This record gives sequence, C-alpha cells and structure tokens, in this order.
Amino acid sequence: MSIEAHRCNVSGCKGFIVFENADFDSSHPPIVNGEFEFDNPCCTECGKEFKVVPYYAVISLDEDGNIEDVESACITEWEKRERQRQFDAETDPSLRIMNFLVERGYTYTVSDVIANYSRHQEIGCYLSYTMKDCIDNLESEIKSLLREIEA
Ligand SMILES: [Zn+2]
Repeated sequence: MSIEAHRCNVSGCKGFIVFENADFDSSHPPIVNGEFEFDNPCCTECGKEFKVVPYYAVISLDEDGNIEDVESACITEWEKRERQRQFDAETDPSLRIMNFLVERGYTYTVSDVIANYSRHQEIGCYLSYTMKDCIDNLESEIKSLLREIEA
C-alpha cells in the first residue's frame, strides 16, 4: 500500500490531495467520461476535486539504482533543438544559409543574402535589421559560397 500526497493548487489553500495508489491497474485504467481516471480525490481542506490519471514518466537511474530527476520540457523546445542540430550537421554552405532563413522565418533567398553581402562589402550600403542578422550569423557560409562562385 502506498499513499501519495500532492499539494493543492488553489491559491491560499494549504490542503493536500491524498490517495492510495495500491489498487491501480495501469494496464487497464478505468475510463470515466471518456478519459482514463484512477481516482478522483478531493483536497483535504478546500474540497476541490482532482483526477488521478495515468501518465508517462521518464526516469534515469544512477549507478546505485536511485531514481534521478529528469526535467520535462515542451515540444517546441525540442523542435527548435532539432532544427539547430540539422543546421550544425549540414556542411553545404548554401543549405546552411537556407536552413537559417527557414529557422528565422525570413523570406530571403540564398542569392538575396549573397547579393546584399557583396553590395554591403563594396559600397557599405544600408542593411535591414533582418538582413544584418543573416550576414552576422552566416558570414563564413557566404564567404565560402563567394569563393566557389569566383573559382
Ligand atoms: Zn485545497
């Protein structure tokens, strides 16, 4: 038998949501109103009703077999990280520039960036904030593309 306690989330309430998780059958969670629900305990002080639901937990075991915390994250953080990894893994300079433009949501083409860079180098013309962002971050890619063009 195991008793679980969670802190009530009603502001100012110092109560707990307490339930016994011993009888839960994780392979066949009961369905209440179309959703999985093991139990519906109430706060011990304000009486607010809560639902105990099955969920996935990710744990890590250290060398002694103790459970270590794994911080949860949101899916957009992961997607952003995957795009960063794709960018880092890409070696073709024009693809790197394209990936960067997509990541930032810019509508420039690779040749826009190259053209602006060259013009800026030649006559020091004005760069928009977004174009400056591209050039600041992509200078080595732009230079290697220009070397290819000149070769
Ligand atoms: Zn409460």
